[in-house]
Amino acid sequence: MKQRPIKTIALALTLFIATSATAKEARYPEFGNGRIEQTLVKAQEYMVAAANPYATEAGMRILEQGGSAIDAAIAVQMVLTLVEPESSGIGGGAFALHWDNENKKLSSFDGREKAPMAADEKLFQENGKNMNWWEALAGGRAVGVPGVLAMLEKVHKQYGKLPWATLFEDAVQLSEAGFEISPKLAASIARGTNPALGRYGDAWEYFFPDGKPIAKGAMRKNPALAMTFRRIALLGSKAFYKGEIALDIVDTVQSAEDNPGMLTAEDMASYEAIERPPVCAPYKAYKLCGMGPPTSGGMTVIQMLKLLEDKNLSALKPLSAEAVHLFAQAGKLAYADRGKYMADADFVDVPVEGLIDGEYLKQRAALITDKDMGSASAGTPPNADQNWKTATSPEQPSTTHFSIVDKDGNGFSMTSSIEMAFGSTLMTHGFLLNNQLTDFSFSESTEDGKLIANRVQPGKRPRSSMSPFMVFDKDDKLVMLIGSPGGSRIINYVAKTMLGVLEWNMDIQTAIDMPHFVNRNGSTDLEDNTAISQLKPQLEALGHKVSVRDLNSGLHGIVITPDGLEGGADPRRVGRVMGK
Ligand code: GLU
Repeated sequence: MKQRPIKTIALALTLFIATSATAKEARYPEFGNGRIEQTLVKAQEYMVAAANPYATEAGMRILEQGGSAIDAAIAVQMVLTLVEPESSGIGGGAFALHWDNENKKLSSFDGREKAPMAADEKLFQENGKNMNWWEALAGGRAVGVPGVLAMLEKVHKQYGKLPWATLFEDAVQLSEAGFEISPKLAASIARGTNPALGRYGDAWEYFFPDGKPIAKGAMRKNPALAMTFRRIALLGSKAFYKGEIALDIVDTVQSAEDNPGMLTAEDMASYEAIERPPVCAPYKAYKLCGMGPPTSGGMTVIQMLKLLEDKNLSALKPLSAEAVHLFAQAGKLAYADRGKYMADADFVDVPVEGLIDGEYLKQRAALITDKDMGSASAGTPPNADQNWKTATSPEQPSTTHFSIVDKDGNGFSMTSSIEMAFGSTLMTHGFLLNNQLTDFSFSESTEDGKLIANRVQPGKRPRSSMSPFMVFDKDDKLVMLIGSPGGSRIINYVAKTMLGVLEWNMDIQTAIDMPHFVNRNGSTDLEDNTAISQLKPQLEALGHKVSVRDLNSGLHGIVITPDGLEGGADPRRVGRVMGK
């Protein structure tokens, strides 16, 4: 495998900065200060809200042809693999909720990456010590078996209307004819968001043509990916999990010179996406439904909202110190439970029902006072095994979320990730491989010898924060689809956007635009360059440790009102909503 000297990259970056100002800008609106103006989109029949205009357009074309929500989702994900490779792709994993409107059936699907069977709790340890996270992320070590394709194929078999191959047409065409590099992709390459990008040959050649980071507005083709799509379109996901592509994935992982991984052809061939029970709880006149383990997203978002259910939030201004204080306290309590109890339930006993139990959460909510609680401890939910010790993993922001409603009222809410921006930075057959295994705890046990629920185990799926959500009204009518990237802050972004719509009567675009406030059982983070940052002194007076910082979500949601569909896209990314 080719290695590139660091000096070459530094020189390339200098050259890029000198030339990028002249790059043309056609497809994407100005991404000034990292924000673009988005306006609420309304439609009557169907809608797609996704993180890139090419992907939204591809989804719309499928819906126009009479495709179902899952059909459109496959077209969207394939195009995102091409145009937003920093965030998601067929080399990664995903979680999704599907709403079958005719049969009033909600299903949830787990396409999370799996640890190789040869991996164990020592995966991220060297000489008896935890590896440095930044050294672990690149190369083969953290690559899990990708789950996106197996999951989409599984849902398509149940709910697809158009032929599988049709759903790849846009992605093939764009890969062959070329697509315009988005300002977000160009900035992610040029800023070195993942410092290892360019270390390995294939990604170096693709993202640094002529030795320079590819500029926004440049046209890029990806013939290798077009060929991959053609093969999967023809043969289904087995063209990916078995045969040449699978063997090349394995070889790329195992031969990453400085940090090889353990993935084998058997790991690839035996991967299965899993349909799991969704996690639902009542909230006032609504029912909130999210994804269960191995993501912590569903349980933790539900905990946050239910901890606030009796706090009369609608009487408070959304950007007031009182509202942010309450939200932050709920975040502290929920993340304390998340750190202790949540992991892959196929391996550890996760007390899912207990964690979202109404009575338990009432007791926990009573811990919230008008002063900051400091660091929250995990509670004792019903039926919880008390042997676990709290642990965190520093999930990094990349990832993508899209929401789709088709003309029959079916919905699909999917969050998809290759973990760190550009994942492991290993590329083969035109796509990047994830580094999702870094979402495991690097330690297996704590100093007093108690095991950590989210430790690495063979064949296990790392705990996630991804939170695709759907909200239903009291008649079981789908009223909202939402989700976001953002590492472990995802949970806060999704909870806050739901409160915007459900408590503060905002339309979905206004709720997404609302400045972010976040607490993960530590500092209260306020979004920089927004009005919310002015609350710092007031919150400090209540005892909060406050950090004003960039908070890069990627919320893409749809609300179904009595008058039709309303969609919102995150101004912090370059997405688009379209509907008819
Ligand atoms: N790897 C993270 C997770 O699965 C997501 C990373 C992100 O959103 O940025 O929860």
